[in-house]
Amino acid sequence: MNERCFLFLRQTKYHLTMELNFKGKKALIRVDFNVPLDAKYKITDDTRIQAALPTIKHVLKAGGSVILMSHLGRPQKKLNEDGSINVQKFTLNHVTKHVGKLLRKKVQFCPETVGKEATKMTKALKPGEVLILENTRFQKEESKGDTAFAKKLAALGDLYINDAFGTAHRAHASTTTVAQFFKKGTKSFGFLMQKEIENAEKVLHNPERPLTAIIGGAKVSDKILLLEKLIDFADNLLIGGGMAYTFLKAQGGNVGNSLVEDNKLKLALRLLKKAEKKGVKIYLPKDSTAADDFNAKAKTANKYSKRIPKGWMGLDIGTAAQKDFTAVVLKSKTLLWNGPMGVFEMKPFAKGTMTIAKAVAKATSKGAFSLVGGGDSVAAVNQMGLADKVSYVSTGGGAMLEFLEGKELPGIAAIK
Ligand code: AMP
Repeated sequence: MNERCFLFLRQTKYHLTMELNFKGKKALIRVDFNVPLDAKYKITDDTRIQAALPTIKHVLKAGGSVILMSHLGRPQKKLNEDGSINVQKFTLNHVTKHVGKLLRKKVQFCPETVGKEATKMTKALKPGEVLILENTRFQKEESKGDTAFAKKLAALGDLYINDAFGTAHRAHASTTTVAQFFKKGTKSFGFLMQKEIENAEKVLHNPERPLTAIIGGAKVSDKILLLEKLIDFADNLLIGGGMAYTFLKAQGGNVGNSLVEDNKLKLALRLLKKAEKKGVKIYLPKDSTAADDFNAKAKTANKYSKRIPKGWMGLDIGTAAQKDFTAVVLKSKTLLWNGPMGVFEMKPFAKGTMTIAKAVAKATSKGAFSLVGGGDSVAAVNQMGLADKVSYVSTGGGAMLEFLEGKELPGIAAIK
């Protein structure tokens, strides 16, 4: 995390979010309503909608009206055969009723993102009313960050709020470009965005030590920058998941058919050396739950991670590794967790991830600060019902990763 970024956070802390005057104003709010839907377009998990409610409610209470914009899925990647948008599948109208239910008021839906109808409906909006615009990604200009499109969006509201942390790492029209049409004092972050930034800051800025980062997931290549950064500021680094085997092979281990990125072996060695030089302790799983096939019914056995037989693969951290990792977690005062310890989607390989989730919850109950970020570790914590036993669960997978890597997210920079 660079000094400039810290300074920015320090400064923004005092003029964040809700110091705008909403009375009689129309607030254009970028939310992340990209929720999972079932085959009948019913919402299967409304976490993202729930997370945006405090900001929406605040604006309404303060005498403003609310214009919500969000993307849903990737409509441009799944066009109809004739090249048109599959409105039935991707319309943001799928969420309107549910948002209304949660806000306990009628919510209007505009079948356009921008255009005559959008202008008419937003103009007619009265204080206390809520309108959802059609999926921002129905316009291909959205993901290009197009200025003309952003200007049309901006014209719909008097104030702009970005509360979509999950898309803050994308320089899209509704997340980034639109902000340039609002002067200082007429744009801000929402409460969710503020919470995400403040919690990440607790890990990055003067954390209580020891600070332990638990990193898992499939590949080293996805998390190189994060690993580099963590070696700069963590005390301990626990590496599990598929990515551990690239490190173990680089050290000369026989990892059988485990997931290995052979073109990252040198990088793995360099990271290990860098950590040693900086006095950062890297823990790799001593043993693994290995299997003779990549499926839930495969034959399994606990094996030393550096002695996995040919044809077998490590699919979870083993029993000794679970003990080692747990001991480090319990001694930590700040914890950052991204990525599962094994193929936790299959029951025989879920134990390592579950054990770590429990350890993080236990450390938190003893006073540690814990931040869980990134899709799969979040899913694991949710599955175990431990989400309220850790300090903070981030709603933004990719965005949180990039923030922790020290990058300035375009959606955040635009509000500056
Ligand atoms: P990521 O999105 O990089 O956090 O990776 C998550 C994915 O990594 C999950 O789908 C896991 O099943 C997978 N994964 C975790 N451990 C392993 C492993 N030992 N071998 C193969 N895949 C793994």
